[in-house]
Amino acid sequence: MNMQKRVSLFGATGSIGDSTVNIVEQYPEQFRFVVLTANTDSKKLINLARKFQPDYVAIADAEKVDEVRHGLNDLPIEVLAGRDGLDIAAQVPTDFAMAAIVGFAGLQSTLKLIEQGTRIGLANKECLAAAGGLFMQRAKQYGAEILPVDSEHNAAFQLLNNISQYDLHKLTLTASGGPFRDWSMDDMMNVSVEQATNHPIWSMGPKITVDSATLMNKGLELIEAQHLFALNADQLDVLVHPQSVVHALITLKDGTLMSHKAVPDMRGPIAFCMGWPERLSANIAAPNLADIKSLNFFEPDRERFPCLALAEQAMHKGGAMPTILNAANEIAVQAFLDQRIGFMQISEIVEYTMAHTGSLNTHAAVGSFSSLGEVLDCDLGARHLAQEKVKKMSV
Ligand code: NAD
Ligand code: MG
Repeated sequence: MNMQKRVSLFGATGSIGDSTVNIVEQYPEQFRFVVLTANTDSKKLINLARKFQPDYVAIADAEKVDEVRHGLNDLPIEVLAGRDGLDIAAQVPTDFAMAAIVGFAGLQSTLKLIEQGTRIGLANKECLAAAGGLFMQRAKQYGAEILPVDSEHNAAFQLLNNISQYDLHKLTLTASGGPFRDWSMDDMMNVSVEQATNHPIWSMGPKITVDSATLMNKGLELIEAQHLFALNADQLDVLVHPQSVVHALITLKDGTLMSHKAVPDMRGPIAFCMGWPERLSANIAAPNLADIKSLNFFEPDRERFPCLALAEQAMHKGGAMPTILNAANEIAVQAFLDQRIGFMQISEIVEYTMAHTGSLNTHAAVGSFSSLGEVLDCDLGARHLAQEKVKKMSV
């Protein structure tokens, strides 16, 4: 009997994609890729497909499909293209699917995966920030198990295992603080793209690296945690922890504080999800506390990092606000990466968009979304508003 688990990897060409490939390489007898997907990087997708010989590959950029077909024409691999191709890829039977597409773009295929009742390793936090209520409700409806890949949420998942919700007082996520943790506001006004895309600890894709520098990443993670663990907004908080050894802490009603520690290496959470409920060693050593010596924790500075405060507001408000926050942030981060706006203007765009939602015809302004169409409408409306603001700022 073939005991290999079939694995689908959505976002195979990215940073989480690389780490997932690394785990499969370490455990070839346990895992086999059946699906690999990419956005535009056809060369990397072809190389991966030639190496791992999945049954399907999907390239979101339909213009690249001929190149991918040509690169794989001697192999029995079906090549799919465009958004529809991703949807078809999400319906391929699999034992574990890694959802590692970046941004709102990952939502549709991840919802399709949910409809298959697949066990999902969820790296894409924007799915939960933009449509958390709908996402978790669908997961429940279809019996899809969601295992958190994001390191803090993976840590929280491990901590909360066997803890009754009645005993939990608070979940704290840690943040490294990013490259500008100790910078003055004046210096932060002049941050370059190069500085913002160079994280001191984690090596990640460009969007999440900028989000880590503004602390929007931690804000999105609060919303992510709220949905994943069905918590009230006031049960969640953040501590800055420069060493990135402690990833999450839980406070219990009897005053017990438990923490999860691991070296900052995404292969750890990925291996955890892929092996669950068993553990894979994945060649990752535990942190050596005698070498590290001290672990520091600080309150985040919400004045220098307004994105965190905005995300907290959106989390408390609920309804469509997290969707609007996420959409505006995606537009603003791209505008910053394209050098159309400055670093501190990212939060201004998000704030502006959140303040002008009255002009958005959002079905969910007062409640939560009941269909993907409603989420898409709201996301699109917020994107338009944010784009308008970018245009005004970049002239
Ligand atoms: P990345 O930019 O390195 O990779 C993104 C992947 O998504 C690529 O394979 C790309 O081809 C694909 N993609 C991008 N746009 C797409 C589109 N429109 N349609 C289809 N595919 C598309 O990003 P990453 O750092 O690997 O992050 C992936 C996700 O995981 C993000 O949501 C991020 O927040 C989350 N995450 C990442 C890390 C990390 O360490 N990198 C940690 C925790 C969570
Ligand atoms: Mg994280």
